[in-house]
Parts: sequence; C-alpha cells; structure tokens
Amino acid sequence: MSPLFFCLSVAPLSHALRAGGGFESEYQEKPLTHIMFMDDLKVYEQSKKELEATVGTVESVSGAVGMTFSLRKCAVAHMRAGRVKRLGGISAGHAGNISEVMSGSYRYLGVEQLMGPKDSRTRKRVEDEYLHRVRKTWNSRLSVGSKVRAHNSWCVAVLRYFSSVVDWGETGMSKVDVCTRKVLRATKSHHKCSAIERLYLPRKMGGRGLQNLEQMKEREVVSAALYARGSSDVQVIGAMRLQRELEYMGENTLMTRAKAALRKYEIPTSSLEWNRTEEETCPRKSLLRRLTEKQTEKLEWRGKAIHGRFKRELERPGTDREATHRWLTLQPETEMIVIGAQDGVTHTNWYKKRYLGGKTDKCRICETKMETVGHILSNCPGHGWGLIKQRHNRVLCLLVKAVMDSMAWPMSKSMAVHGIATAGVWGTEEERVLIDQAIPTSRKITECRPDLVIRSKTRKKIVIFDVACALDHLVQKREAEKKAKYQELAADLATQWRGCGVTVTPVVLGDLGLVAGLARHLGRSGVLKDEAIAGFMGHAQREVLCAAIQILKRHMKA
Ligand SMILES: [Zn+2]
Repeated sequence: MSPLFFCLSVAPLSHALRAGGGFESEYQEKPLTHIMFMDDLKVYEQSKKELEATVGTVESVSGAVGMTFSLRKCAVAHMRAGRVKRLGGISAGHAGNISEVMSGSYRYLGVEQLMGPKDSRTRKRVEDEYLHRVRKTWNSRLSVGSKVRAHNSWCVAVLRYFSSVVDWGETGMSKVDVCTRKVLRATKSHHKCSAIERLYLPRKMGGRGLQNLEQMKEREVVSAALYARGSSDVQVIGAMRLQRELEYMGENTLMTRAKAALRKYEIPTSSLEWNRTEEETCPRKSLLRRLTEKQTEKLEWRGKAIHGRFKRELERPGTDREATHRWLTLQPETEMIVIGAQDGVTHTNWYKKRYLGGKTDKCRICETKMETVGHILSNCPGHGWGLIKQRHNRVLCLLVKAVMDSMAWPMSKSMAVHGIATAGVWGTEEERVLIDQAIPTSRKITECRPDLVIRSKTRKKIVIFDVACALDHLVQKREAEKKAKYQELAADLATQWRGCGVTVTPVVLGDLGLVAGLARHLGRSGVLKDEAIAGFMGHAQREVLCAAIQILKRHMKA
C-alpha cells in the first residue's frame, strides 16, 4: 500500500484517540494520548479502566477503516512512580484479553524495553549484542573494506540508539572501545602496540576508518540535546521542562551530558543553555560539524615520539599523502603488520632493548648494525637480500608493462617472466626498449646502466628510468640523487640523438609505501598515460608492501 494512503486511512484513529483522556503530567501542556509508529501504536491512559475504554475505541475505529489488530501481538504495562507494577492484563471487549508484557517479550533493536534507561542490565545487554556482532564481523572472511563498513553500520548501530538514551557514565563507552580493540587483536587485525588513534582516523588520512564509540556517543548526545532544544513538539517541550527541573536538582540529564561533551572540546554551550538568546543559537548541523572536526583533531598522532615518526614524514613538503594512503585495501593482517611497522612498533631488537628490556639492539643476522625496520628492509645482507632484489625487479616489470601499454607497443612474452623483467634489448631501431643495459656512449661515463631506457625516434623522445626502494625518510633525497646521477648520460644521449628530448625519471618508493614525487616525475616523462600512472603506482606500492611483509617475517623468524 502507498505510505500516504496508509497514513490517510489511519488518521481517523489518531483523531479519535486525541479526543480521549490520555496520560496527564504536570510538565505537559496537553495529556499524552498515543504515539503512532509506522505500523505500531502505543496508547497511554491514567488507569486500567480508562485504558480498556480506549482499546475499545481503537478496535471500533480500526474496524471501521477495515483494519484488524492482532491481540497476540498486543501487551500492556502498568507503571507506578516510574516502576513497573504487576496488575494483570486488560479486557479488549468481546475480542478477548490483552496480556501483561512479560520480561523479554517487548524488544526494540534487540533490547528489552521494559528495562529502564538507568538499568545497568540495559547497558550489559546492548554491550553483549554489540560485541557478538563485532566478533562475527572480524572473524568473517570479508575483505577489510567490507569489515570496516559492516563494523560501522551493523555493529555500531546497536549502540548508536542507546548512546544518548542510556547514561554510560564517564568511562562506560571507553571500556567498550577497549573490548573492541581486544577483539581486533585476537583476530589479528590490530597490532597491540600500534597507535590507537590511527584505528579511528578516516582511511584517506592514513587511519583504519573505525568509529570511535566514545566520540560517537558524544556526537549522539549533543545531536539529541540540540534536537530536543529546538523542537516545537508539545511532548518534547514537556520533556524539556522536566529535564530543566532535574538539572537544577543536580541530576545527570541529557542536557548536562551534552554540555560536558561540548566543554571537553572547548566549544561554547550557549545553544543548549536554558536562557539562550536567538543570536547565541548555533545551527545544529554546523555545531555537529565543528564537534566532529575537534574530535578528529584529538586523534592527532604526530606528537607521539615513536608512533608519530611516520606522520612527521608524511607532513614534509613534497610528500604525496593521498598516494601514500592508497594501499589501505589489503587484508586485515597485512594492514596490521604494515601499520605496526609504520608506527615503529615491530618487535625488532632495537625496539625490544629500548622498550621491553631486551639485552641487545644489534641485528640478529649481521650482528653489526642496529636492528631497526629500516635496516631489515633496506640494508641487512641477511635472509631478505634476495627478496630485496626481487622487489626491485618486480617494480621494474610493472613499469615496463605500464610503458609498453601507454606507448601501444607489443609486449614480448620473454620481456617479463614470472613478474620479473628480463634484461635485454627489445623493439626496432626506430622504437627501442633497453632493460638493464649499458648504454653505448661517445665518451667514458661511469653511470651508464639505468634500469630502463625508452627511445622513440618517431616521437623524438628518450626517457631514462631508474627504479629504487628507499627508507621512507630518504625517498625525496633518493629521487634527487637519481636525477643527478644520470644527467651526464642524458647530455651524451642528447648529442648522439640530435632532435630527441631526453628525460631522466626517478621511480622511488618508500619501503613502507611512502610516495613523494612519483606521480609528478612519471607525468613529466611524457610516455605514460594518466591512467597507466595511477595503475602502476597502486600496483607498485602493493608489491613493495607485500615484499616488506615477507622480508620482515623471514628476518624475525631467523
Ligand atoms: Zn642486519
């Protein structure tokens, strides 16, 4: 049935109920007669007898519009001074009896409604349901993006409604946050020493994108309080009168909780004050936006001595932050290892000596240098050395494929075997591809063996590519070094091949995925299309990170 037609047909019922007695309270201007949900109806009366009369009205009016209501689904609750009293069911005329609501029989969002908002059992039930869903989500075989989405929508939805209705106290919700992190650790999705802040930052800012429950509660409380203060509904105005009285009596109300949340972030509470003026009232949306911004600021992790090191690298001018965070679509365990390494909390000997009381900080393989993540990934001549070379060759292979694709040149099968580029000379005299070859020069030049040279007579272009993976804080330096290293060769090629423009393109990626001027350099080379650049950068970054995990795992097992 059309929703509008449904509303029109039940309107007579609402009119009939409004003409009745209803529940009177000193705070309400008008008595509360009923609340209509989409297909549910709640009626309120002062006494059992009046309620029976109202049920009769509901039956006759709904019968007149062709509706019947199922007595099996109806229930009655008696309240005296805020407490549930067992006074038995009521009679619904010749249709039968409506029984009393029993424990567990009336639920909203999976939580029993008979329990009051102050009831600690309510919190326990909601918490249990939430953690059950969290375990189910993070133990599933979904991709990490889907897990985060399921967590934020399906799991957090249980708590969202109750976060403003129930008083969680100062630490109630933070404790649930701690339990969530325990589940994440148990399912190998979060490193126990990683920065907590990064779990809750948006993914485009380098975080994992989970909802922080404490902050969600603060937003929900402020949102509900602002809605209630701005509402013109008679019942809400009545409820606000009661809140005001309770606040003066020193009780903990929705308003006091909302004001405390705003004060925590140094946001003026004037919009929620009882004696506010029109000028002092801030629109709900802009106030909530400001609150969210302040909450995100609070998750800043750059100031932390160890965790903040990677963030400080990210904030250096010339770093491509967007590209650096693009990798965050891997498996949860992969994300955990990479973020742990970026946060500098991988249990290397250096970390163990500094924070866990280890005896030595020297490398377990070469025994000469300090064992840091940087040393393992770039310098250690131990077990990972073959993998370091393989990583370089795989990135080179991806680059060759991207270039051949962009130039629309046919790619020979022998150019790439098992994802590794083969050294050699390919193509015709007009259009040449040289992979890892010494370039013939007119005079003696030491640096004449770049990873890849593309020479196209038809396009009048020569491009020298050189691939490297560097420590994250050295990426920009290595790019400049690579550019300088091949200047002599570029000048010589320019004289040999008159009329051709020669470009040197450094292809440098950080060991842990940091990207600096890569997109800019590849764009300037003039032989790669935009989509090929984006594709190459994504694939190369994943390749480097997967290699980093392999190298770290192999080294730590030694
Ligand atoms: Zn070593």
